[in-house]
This record gives sequence, C-alpha cells and structure tokens, in this order.
Amino acid sequence: MPRHYRSRNRILVTGGAGFLGSHLCDRLLEADNEVICADNLFTGTKRNIDHLHNHPRFEFLRHDVTFPLYVEVDQIYNLACPASPIHYQHDPVQTAKTSVHGAINMLGLAKRLGCKILQASTSEVYGDPHMSPQREDYWGNVNPIGIRSCYDEGKRCAETLFFDYHRQHNVPIKVARIFNTYGPRMHPRDGRVVSNFISQALANEQITLYGDGSQTRSFCYVDELIDGLVRLMATDTDVVGPVNLGNPVEFSILELAELIIRKTGSKSTLSYHPLPSDDPTQRRPDISLAKEQLNWTPTISLDQGIGYTVNYFRDLFKLWKQ
Ligand code: NAD
Ligand code: UDP
Ligand code: UDP
Repeated sequence: MPRHYRSRNRILVTGGAGFLGSHLCDRLLEADNEVICADNLFTGTKRNIDHLHNHPRFEFLRHDVTFPLYVEVDQIYNLACPASPIHYQHDPVQTAKTSVHGAINMLGLAKRLGCKILQASTSEVYGDPHMSPQREDYWGNVNPIGIRSCYDEGKRCAETLFFDYHRQHNVPIKVARIFNTYGPRMHPRDGRVVSNFISQALANEQITLYGDGSQTRSFCYVDELIDGLVRLMATDTDVVGPVNLGNPVEFSILELAELIIRKTGSKSTLSYHPLPSDDPTQRRPDISLAKEQLNWTPTISLDQGIGYTVNYFRDLFKLWKQ
C-alpha cells in the first residue's frame, strides 16, 4: 500500500530475530506499528519471534543485509550483526561485510525512501578506552588488525557511512552506541558473560572467569535499552547522535560472577582462564547526552535484572529437558 494510504508506520527491523531485535519488534507492535523483520537467522532464531507468527501487523523476511533490499517502509532500525565475540569471530569477513555492506544497503534504502534510519552501534567503537566514563566525543582506542577488529572497525565504518549519507544525501540518521545489554532471549550458548555465567551457575558448573575478573562492564537491562532506541528514533531530525545508551553503574566481572552465584543459590566455584586478546579493561558510559536529549535514564539495578534473566533461563532449560 502506498505510504500516503497508510495510517500506521511500517517499520523495518534488520536483525529482528535476535536478542535485541525481537524485543524491539514486540515494542513497535505494541505501539500499533506494522513491522517487517529482516534477518538471515545467523545468530537469531525463529523461537524469538514465534509468538509473532500469526500477528497481522508482523512480517518475517529471511534476508541477508549484505544484499540489496527493496521494501517500502517509513523507518528503519539497523540491528543486523552478530554481537557476541564467539559469533562475530566465527566468520570475521562476513561480520565486517554485514556492518559495512549492510549499512550501505540500508542507507541506500533510506535515501530512496527519504526515511529515518537508526544504527545499532556499540561501545566497542571506544575499544580499550583511555577515558572513563566514555563520552561520545572520545574517538576511542581500537586495534585495527586484531581478532575483535571485524566487529569494532566494521561498526566504526558503519558510523562513518551513516554520517556521510547524512551530510552528502541528507538522510535522517540516528546513531546509538549501545553498551553491554542483557535479559531474556539472550542465547544461553552465545558465549557472552551474563549468559555463560547464568548457564554455568544453574548447572552448578565452574564459572569461567577470563583474566583475574577485575575488568569492568556496565550492564543495561534489555527493556530499558529498547526504550532508549525508540526514544532516539522519535527525536527531531537535528538529533543524530552518536548517543551512548547503557547503564552507567560499573561492575567488575568478578562482582558479576558473585552476584549470579548468589541469585541462583548455586554451588559453582570460580575457574580462571586466560584473558582473550584486546579484551577491554574498562567500560562505562557517560549518559549525560541521553538524559538531556532523550530524557532517558536506566533504573533497573543489576540485581533486579539478573533476577528476571535467571527466571527466563530456568524456564528455558526446563523446556529443553522435556
Ligand atoms: P544477536 O546476535 O542476538 O542479534 C543479531 C541479529 O542479526 C541476529 O538475529 C542475526 O541472525 C542477525 N544477522 C546477523 N548477520 C546478518 C545479516 N548479514 N543479515 C541479516 N541479519 C543478520 O545480537 P544482539 O545482542 O541482539 O545485537 C543486536 C545489535 O545490537 C547488533 O548490531 C549489535 O552489534 C548491537 N549491540 C548489541 C549489544 C548487546 O549488548 N547486546 C551491545 C552493543 C551493540
Ligand atoms: N539499495 C537497496 N534498496 C533500495 C535502494 C538501494 O538495497 O531501495 C542498495 C543498493 O544495493 C545500492 C546501495 O543501497 O547499491 C546504496 O545505494 P545508493 O543510492 O547510495 O548508491 P547506488 O545505488 O548509486 O549504488
Ligand atoms: N568473560 C568472562 N567469562 C566468560 C565470558 C566473558 O570472564 O565466560 C569476560 C570477557 O573476557 C569480558 C567480559 O566478560 O571481559 C564481557 O564479555 P562479553 O563477551 O559478554 O562482552 P564484551 O567483551 O564484548 O563486552
């Protein structure tokens, strides 16, 4: 249906069958939009969007964003990209292509349609930062040739493309720099720290600490992160970002392990393993800009959010056993 006949917004979510993307699809449908979810199911799963299967305003397209896509939409959220180190290092060339060719194709689509497009960028653009907390005007400290580079540099190049399409072709862009996010629908075997630790704790297996556990991360609960993305998309066209989205409360990985053991009542003990190369030692967002421009501040504590996530994993493992 041509755009002027539609009363609702039709929104494209790339990576919509993934952890964040599926929550975003839910949120956009709740707000009465039509949603097209485009995903090649590399790390995402149909299970994440099963409940939307017969939804009249939802459509799933199995599509790889490194190839062109011709659809008629009013907004685009570009989330397609594996996010966990074991996944994005599995096929690093494809990871870089997904960020770079994916950005070019989705920006080409936004340019043809004249529609807003939001990029799910990442705190990884800051690399192993020399500045803490990280503000958006910090240019980062990234190794261009290491094992994390396909992801970090791919995302940095995507940001460059977003700003060039904006300056050169007036594409209305929004760039969110997302910090570590966790919650229900994380894949239990995706290798990320929260999913690993909860899976290990529930099985009373050893908790695998990389390094001495003193490295830090700031963890945001998924619902609040999605709220930040939707708020950013809703801003006036002069707000383009990049905007940090994350929970500014910083925890060491050892503190996280202790919290998860306590919340699960687990008998697990800690086991120490070598720190992967280029693993950032510190990560904490300065969210002043998000507070000011989006009126957004996360309020769910790690204790609370881990509780919700443990409940999800418990139910999932029960289901898998049946
Ligand atoms: P995820 O792996 O669960 O989701 C990514 C989705 O993209 C998956 O459904 C996957 O199948 C899909 N995908 C991958 N390559 C594709 C391609 N070439 N074409 C189409 N679809 C493709 O990861 P997530 O945690 O939901 O992350 C979503 C986005 O948010 C990613 O772009 C990620 O870089 C970004 N991000 C996430 C976090 C986090 O902590 N979760 C932090 C920073 C940034
Ligand atoms: N593209 C797309 N869908 C569209 C329009 C463009 O996937 O609706 C892709 C197409 O593959 C193109 C890319 O976006 O190569 C970049 O588009 P742009 O208009 O910037 O460049 P050009 O068409 O000149 O390559
Ligand atoms: N980590 C860990 N044990 C694990 C998985 C991860 O100690 O089983 C550490 C990892 O080395 C990193 C931190 O936890 O310092 C966060 O890792 P994750 O892969 O979740 O995210 P990222 O490094 O991309 O922030």
